[in-house]
Amino acid sequence: MDIGRQHRHVVMLPFMAQGHMIPFLALARQIEQRTGYAITIATTPINAAYLRSTISSSTTPTTIRVAELPFCSTDHGLPPNTENTEALPNHHIITLFRASQTLEPSFYNLVSTITQQDGQPPLCIIADVFLGWSVNVAKRVGSFHAVFTTSGGYGTAAYFSLWLNLPHRHTDSDEFTVPGFPETCRFHRSQLHPKLRSADGTDPCSVVYQREIRLSLGSNGFLCNTAEEMEKFGLEILRRFTGVPVWSIGPLLPPAFLLNLPSPTDSNLSSLRSGKQPGITPENCIKWLDYHPPGSVLYISFGSQNTINTTQMMELAMGVEASGKAFIWVVRPPVGFDINGEFKAEWLPEGFEERVTESRRGLVVRTWAPQLEILSHKSTGAFLSHCGWNSSLESLSQGVPIIGWPLVAEQTYNSKMLEEEMGVCVELARGLDGRILSGEVERVIKLVMDVGEKGKEMKMKASEAARKIRAAVKKEGDQLGFSVKALDSFLEIALSQRGSSSLNEANGYPS
Ligand code: UDP
Repeated sequence: MDIGRQHRHVVMLPFMAQGHMIPFLALARQIEQRTGYAITIATTPINAAYLRSTISSSTTPTTIRVAELPFCSTDHGLPPNTENTEALPNHHIITLFRASQTLEPSFYNLVSTITQQDGQPPLCIIADVFLGWSVNVAKRVGSFHAVFTTSGGYGTAAYFSLWLNLPHRHTDSDEFTVPGFPETCRFHRSQLHPKLRSADGTDPCSVVYQREIRLSLGSNGFLCNTAEEMEKFGLEILRRFTGVPVWSIGPLLPPAFLLNLPSPTDSNLSSLRSGKQPGITPENCIKWLDYHPPGSVLYISFGSQNTINTTQMMELAMGVEASGKAFIWVVRPPVGFDINGEFKAEWLPEGFEERVTESRRGLVVRTWAPQLEILSHKSTGAFLSHCGWNSSLESLSQGVPIIGWPLVAEQTYNSKMLEEEMGVCVELARGLDGRILSGEVERVIKLVMDVGEKGKEMKMKASEAARKIRAAVKKEGDQLGFSVKALDSFLEIALSQRGSSSLNEANGYPS
């Protein structure tokens, strides 16, 4: 792509959560690679240090810059040195959301400084949907603004519509329609997070989410981390809902992962992507997987910030063991215990870890696993996942069907879409309080992993999704996939809008 390299600056603003930082960094790399533009990612000091170390661990040269926005967690009632959802129990996450709103003045200062240094405002500001206030900053300096939604079209549209159309507790039926979605696509009360079920527009969650969503809807457009061909229905709803252009530019995944190539440093794709050290080396994990036949291993993970409770953990362990399938399970301390503390054997059935380790039936990994290496290994046959959007995309890009256990955020909507629209998921349980019995765990695992009709159909549909994903992100000479072209087209539009009066409402800066 050659749309002029001089003095083009893109400023990015991710929300402070692993599932947001990872795709934002991937997007920054993609824009840099396509255009050579200067890129600055703005975030709080601890997240900035994390991003810098992730960037510097890559062997690919980069000029991506990370700028710090001053932030002191204790000023906001958060534990010391806590700036990321990953280190927070669920009930504290809203405090981080509220605290993130206070970043507006320092972000404005940063963008103003960049404007003065460059002699013109940034080409665009690409910000997280949860940091909708950045639209105000973009308007003040005269930059094009895009929201980057790290979730898919369907999940984002459902999340927006459900938070903006409150309250839901007066719904007299368990099933109901959601504005923006067709009548036939009914949602269930149990798909709403308890906070959303009781929200009325005045509670802390409504106040924060409604404000940021409404501000985000004032953006010039949306970038969506999904593939057009894979998520036509969800994207159509999101486009209607937002009324602004939506560019489907994903999935933003490492090329080596999609091509099943060894990464530049052999086997640390996950660390290069997430910047985190896993509880097992990728080499040992791969060795363990090599020992098992193709499609025979179940991978279990609830993402970067969630965990389940002790009763659920026990039932899950018993069900997995009873299924007889081999598995890798990423464990974190259960709900109610220090999420950053040591994992205790007593949270699993007696002798569970010893038994499965000795028989090589199971691998229990502490806190963080090399997820990309696991999902791209031929032995992995299914993923029991919380249906976080990154995990869903990573799984589908490898043709791996999903056993869903959505917990929070837009995960229940993702699970619904994956099951009803795509046929690549069977939901096992729902929500943090989801009731789960070992017998049901065993049944669902067998349903998805055995070569019965359902298992075969899911595998076929997941492989079809993998094909669409690969086509969308293809970059071979002149042959560009839909998502690559969409990103180019977004940047061209940002360029063409530069200096337009609607972007320069009150800035006083040259454009
Ligand atoms: N991840 C990982 N190892 C883990 C847990 C998570 O590499 O043990 C990565 C995973 O590959 C994904 C991200 O962390 O890229 C999690 O994002 P997702 O949207 O799935 O869930 P969230 O953590 O935001 O709930």
